[in-house]
Amino acid sequence: MAGPMLWPSGEPWPRCQLPHMVEIERPATAEDLELFRRGDEEVARLADRLSALPPEPGSRGMPAATAAQLLRMLASASANRPRTTVRTSAMAVPPKPVPMVPVVQLRAADIPHARFPEGTDLLQILWCPHWHNAVPGMDEHHRGPAPMVCWRDSTKLTHHATPPDGAGTDGRSVLSTCVISPEQITDYPDTEALPDPLQERLEDWHDSLGPDPGFDYRNDLAAAPGLKAGGWPYWPHGPRPVGCACGADRDLLLSIPNGERGTPSWTPLEDQTRAVEGGEEFHHPTGFHGARDAVHIFSCRQDPAHPVQIYVE
Ligand SMILES: [Zn+2]
Ligand SMILES: [Zn+2]
Repeated sequence: MAGPMLWPSGEPWPRCQLPHMVEIERPATAEDLELFRRGDEEVARLADRLSALPPEPGSRGMPAATAAQLLRMLASASANRPRTTVRTSAMAVPPKPVPMVPVVQLRAADIPHARFPEGTDLLQILWCPHWHNAVPGMDEHHRGPAPMVCWRDSTKLTHHATPPDGAGTDGRSVLSTCVISPEQITDYPDTEALPDPLQERLEDWHDSLGPDPGFDYRNDLAAAPGLKAGGWPYWPHGPRPVGCACGADRDLLLSIPNGERGTPSWTPLEDQTRAVEGGEEFHHPTGFHGARDAVHIFSCRQDPAHPVQIYVE
């Protein structure tokens, strides 16, 4: 993960030229100045209200009079700063194309269930880690990193490439370099993704197991959490459309979680102690923080070389 990639010599490292969210400093408009003025008034009103409060003997918090004084000092420092420019974020084409960062490199032998295009045995996923709201070939509602998927023949690659300097400046979607030891498991579709009659049968089945069977379908059998290639996605907000433009369905290619919870049922046997000790605590082995739950990448079932769909959940 996130490490050097086998790369064709002579092929330049990919760069993103799409508009993405960048920090900008622009001249302040009349609306900005009006907003500043109203902000100052609001802070002054709050400071007046705080200083009018009676003292609370025994309270451990900051006395209201001190808080009011602090607010007035901060407001005065802010008002005395020149308000000619505003720092904000906006969607903009980067002045220079941004180097993409490696996400994962998997060999066909690592993920025997996955369908590789004819003549390829190496899957590489890279992305531009910035926040995009439009990526060609992707669902119009896409918000998040812009991915690039390469299917390659590893026998033709001898050279390793690393991203150039300056890659990966947005830390939340830049992963930590690590080696994966894949383990094959079976999971099942998220309850929400099942047709109603099946959901009802599942409920009946749960009821038949008694008051506390020690597991439940959604948490212990469906949509395994953690970093995975293939299987079924966890849909915290309900299932999303994953069809390809060619008319075929798409399958889950890769799921990158925002941290891993130490639930014993899905934790590898060698990590069970950690699961018990960690309880509900999150671990971040991939260093990924760019989603609330996970990023799911789907590829076409008919032809994996078709554009992927990515969902940031
Ligand atoms: Zn980008
Ligand atoms: Zn397709």
